[in-house]
Amino acid sequence: MSAMPIAFIGHGSPMNAIEDNEFRREWQSLGRRLPRPKAILCISAHWETRGVYVSAGEQPETIHDFHGFPKALFDVRYRASGSPELARRVAELIDGTRVHLDAERGLDHGAWGVLQPMYPEADIPIVQLSLSGLQPGAWHYDLARDLAPLRDEGVLIVGSGNIVHNLRVFRFNDPTPKDWALRFDEEVAERIADGHHEGLLGYETLGPDALLSIPTPEHYLPLLYILALQREGETVSFFNASVMSSISMRSLVIGAP
Ligand code: ZN
Repeated sequence: MSAMPIAFIGHGSPMNAIEDNEFRREWQSLGRRLPRPKAILCISAHWETRGVYVSAGEQPETIHDFHGFPKALFDVRYRASGSPELARRVAELIDGTRVHLDAERGLDHGAWGVLQPMYPEADIPIVQLSLSGLQPGAWHYDLARDLAPLRDEGVLIVGSGNIVHNLRVFRFNDPTPKDWALRFDEEVAERIADGHHEGLLGYETLGPDALLSIPTPEHYLPLLYILALQREGETVSFFNASVMSSISMRSLVIGAP
């Protein structure tokens, strides 16, 4: 069995989960073209914790962790099962830090919002790994490297966030990309394409565009988990590479056939 690909998905607005648009169509197509995984491990921007947690319930609930959206979005129930077995495996692989198993945790919209379009049958078990707040980029990158064996065990690892994510200046009614957002998105893409991950770990030092693009790190950090799992010689392909106002939808898949 060859290694499972890995993907980072820019999720953007929760409405992308149910709205037919270019982003969601790419997620659907990605689900169809990837080899079928045994299970999925998702690192979402929307689960920040103190310490490291893994969802470990048999049947995670669909969490509607947003406000002010139409009822249709709150009505979504994504019924993929969990996998206590994969949760235990993740805990076993992560070295040097304690991992808490959380049997009560459901799936947040960073996870179900993209995984439902990818796997509408909900027939692949999903486990989420939390983002331990307050830890620097390099810490997340190192932790993610411990997960490498999962790629050889048929597990699809998906990061869900946004490379540029500044809601404070986001304009719903004017999607014209901000100049700094375009520049930073492009800079990150170049570094990823060149395999220069070091600078991306210390994103705080990348200058004013980075500070505007990453006012808080939770949407950016899932990207580092995916980059950490890239293997020698694997190429990156980008999709949904566009910027809406102050959110970059750029997504990538590594190691896909
Ligand atoms: Zn989000």
